[in-house]
Amino acid sequence: MKSDYLRKYNFLDECKDYLRTIDFNGFEDLEDSKYDHMFKRAMDRIRSAVDNNMYQHSDNVSYEIISFMIAVKVIQATGNKRLLKRFVLYESMVVEQSLQSDIDDKSIRNTLLKKFSDFRSVDSTHQVNLDNVEKDGSEYKVTVADYVTMMNQFNEPEWRLVNQKVDQGFVFIKKNKFIRLMRMGIMKYLEKMISSNTLKLPSMFDEYVVTARGLLEDFAVVPMSKTYPPCMTSIIDQINRGENPNNISRVVLTTYLLNRGISVEDVAETFNNTPDHDSKKTQYYISKLVGYKSYGCSKIESYGLCHRNEKCGNIKNPMHFKD
Ligand code: SF4
Repeated sequence: MKSDYLRKYNFLDECKDYLRTIDFNGFEDLEDSKYDHMFKRAMDRIRSAVDNNMYQHSDNVSYEIISFMIAVKVIQATGNKRLLKRFVLYESMVVEQSLQSDIDDKSIRNTLLKKFSDFRSVDSTHQVNLDNVEKDGSEYKVTVADYVTMMNQFNEPEWRLVNQKVDQGFVFIKKNKFIRLMRMGIMKYLEKMISSNTLKLPSMFDEYVVTARGLLEDFAVVPMSKTYPPCMTSIIDQINRGENPNNISRVVLTTYLLNRGISVEDVAETFNNTPDHDSKKTQYYISKLVGYKSYGCSKIESYGLCHRNEKCGNIKNPMHFKD
């Protein structure tokens, strides 16, 4: 694989092969002060993620790969789930940006697609096999079975199969949408990769781990009221897991909480755990929803967000839910 790709996609297995070719031996080598600037770069990456600042890859392949590797180790050692989510979201957005120019290279496209080809939704037995996604004119075609399995994670109407162009067993997806889809897959891959490795680090990492831990407060569980209906508790559960609810979910929850008389500031706090949280923007968007009625059950159902149970009975609006 071209080294320019390794410079941009630092999480690929091929990066480890590259480091071997330059005789980099991991932790042992990092003890040498000549690698101090790599630690600085790694911390810059983490800070960029926390502050949501644009990260520019340098031209130096080993610099990018090693700083990514250090950043991952530091994040793991902090044990801070919110920091991990933020980092993963941010790095996947950097990938998304690079893909704007690289997506039409079949070799890099298939290499990246392989990273989430083992993705499988909890309620599906279908194994996604994306290696053979093809470009067709200005679109990309994915088999319907793969598409349906992958799209289970999106509730917005724009991702539903009925709203896609489907022909002869394939779904045809426009470039930007396809890149977004790839970004979601890479995000899941990175999260799994970073969460699963808990190697004990040498002491030279200690000061960086302490600094990184201080950059972002870890998740605080959003309190749940027994009087919230299942559709709302499900969205709050998602937030408590550190996931990003989609826009519709956010609007549904926000209008519901506002109609229950909860202040803009307190509703904004509900979203503190989301990886892409920006408190000023959140408060602004919430304030724009003041005065709107809470969504009715049929609308919420049409978004795939209804989790009706016996306590819901025949209510038409979550505001009427009684525990
Ligand atoms: S029936 Fe209404 S209140 Fe109950 S989960 Fe569905 S949308 Fe929510």
